[in-house]
Amino acid sequence: MQKDVPLAQYTTIEIGGPARFFVEARSEDEIIGALRWANEAGVPVFILGGGSNILFGDDGFNGLVVKISTSGVVFEELDSSTVAVTSAAGEEWDGLVSMCSERGLAGIECLSGIPGTVGGTPIQNVGAYGQEVSQTIVSVRCLDRETLRVVEIENADCGFSYRQSIFNTIALRKYVVLSLRFRLRSGRPELPEYPELRREIEASINEMTPLMLREAVMRLRRRKSMVVDPSDPNSRSLGSFFKNPVVSLEDHKRLCDRFGDVPSFVAEGGVKVPAAWLIEKSGFTKGHVEGNTGISTKHSLALINRGGATAAELIAFRDKVAAAVEQRFGIRLFMEPEAVGA
Ligand SMILES: Cc1cc2nc3c(=O)[nH]c(=O)nc-3n(C[C@H](O)[C@H](O)[C@H](O)COP(=O)(O)OP(=O)(O)OC[C@H]3O[C@@H](n4cnc5c(N)ncnc54)[C@H](O)[C@@H]3O)c2cc1C
Repeated sequence: MQKDVPLAQYTTIEIGGPARFFVEARSEDEIIGALRWANEAGVPVFILGGGSNILFGDDGFNGLVVKISTSGVVFEELDSSTVAVTSAAGEEWDGLVSMCSERGLAGIECLSGIPGTVGGTPIQNVGAYGQEVSQTIVSVRCLDRETLRVVEIENADCGFSYRQSIFNTIALRKYVVLSLRFRLRSGRPELPEYPELRREIEASINEMTPLMLREAVMRLRRRKSMVVDPSDPNSRSLGSFFKNPVVSLEDHKRLCDRFGDVPSFVAEGGVKVPAAWLIEKSGFTKGHVEGNTGISTKHSLALINRGGATAAELIAFRDKVAAAVEQRFGIRLFMEPEAVGA
C-alpha cells in the first residue's frame, strides 16, 4: 500500500490531489484484501478504474483509493452466431472492443475509443453513436463492499437507462464490479442510424464488418479529440462534461418558437437537446479559454485542462457555463462525470 499518491496522474483530465492510501489491485484477492483492511480500519474507500469519468478535488481523497487492474478475457461460443465474452473489470475497454471487432463479433463496435476500464462501463451505461453497453451486457459480477460477498446481477436488475444504472444511483458505492459477461453476435453488425457515422460508412455499407465500423468510429472520434492522446491537449478532458438534457415536447416547441430550429433527438420522456448546441449558443464556443481551463477546439462539450488547472478552477468554469445556459434557455445542465471532493 502506498501513501499520499497524487491522483491527477490516474485521471485523463490530470486533476486531483493526493489519496491518503492507494493500492493497485491486480487480482480479485487483492481487491478483497484492500477492502477488508479498509473496513476494519474504518477508512473510506474509492474504487478507481481508468479515471476517465472522475473529477477529484484539489484536496484529493482522505481514504483508500483502490485502482482496479485485474485482467483476463474469455470467449465462449454459445451457438454458430452467438459468443459469450467474459472480461475482468480492470481490462482496458477499448482493448476489449478491438479484440471483439477483430474476431468479427458485433454489438460493441460503436463504443470504440471510449477510454477507461471494462468495469467502468456499466456504471453510467456508456454509450456512443446509438449503442449502449447495456444492449450487450448479460450480467455484472460484483463484490458487495460491506459483506465482501460476490453477487451476479442480471442485466434486467441493473436499472440501465441513459447514462444511468443502479451503480450510480440506488446502489452507488455498494459494489466493486469484478467482471462483466457480454453476449455478442458474429457476422454483420447492425447499421447505425446516427447520421454522422452513417455518412462515414456510406461508401462501404454493403460489406460492413464490426472492424470496419470500429475504424469509422475511431476516425470520427479522433477528429473530435474524443480519443485520449497524450500529445493532444484537447483530450485532457473527461469526455462530454454535461449530459444532454431531456425536455418535454411542449418545452421543445416553446424553445423553437423563441430560438428558431432547436436541434433535438427522440428520447424517453420527450426529446434530448444537444448540450453542445446549448453551450455554443450561450457564448462558449470551441476553443474558449478560461484561465487554465477551457473548451476543446474540436468539441464544445469537452471542458479541458489546458495545463496546470485545479479542480476549483474547473468547477468555477462549469458553473459559469451552466449558469449561462440556464439564463438563456431556462434549461439546467447536469455534469456527466462524477465529482469526488470537488
Ligand atoms: C476523451 C473521452 C471520451 C469519452 N467518451 C465517452 C463516450 O463516448 N460515451 C460515454 O458514455 N462515456 C465517455 N467518456 C467517459 C468515460 O470514458 C466512461 O464513463 C468510462 O466508462 C469510465 O470508466 P473508467 O474506468 O475510466 O472509470 P473511472 O473514471 O475510474 O470511474 C468512474 C466511476 O465508475 C466507478 N468505477 C470504475 N470502475 C469500477 C469498478 N470496477 N467497480 C465499481 N465502480 C467502478 C468509479 O468509482 C466512479 O464512480 C469519455 C471520457 C473521455 C476522457
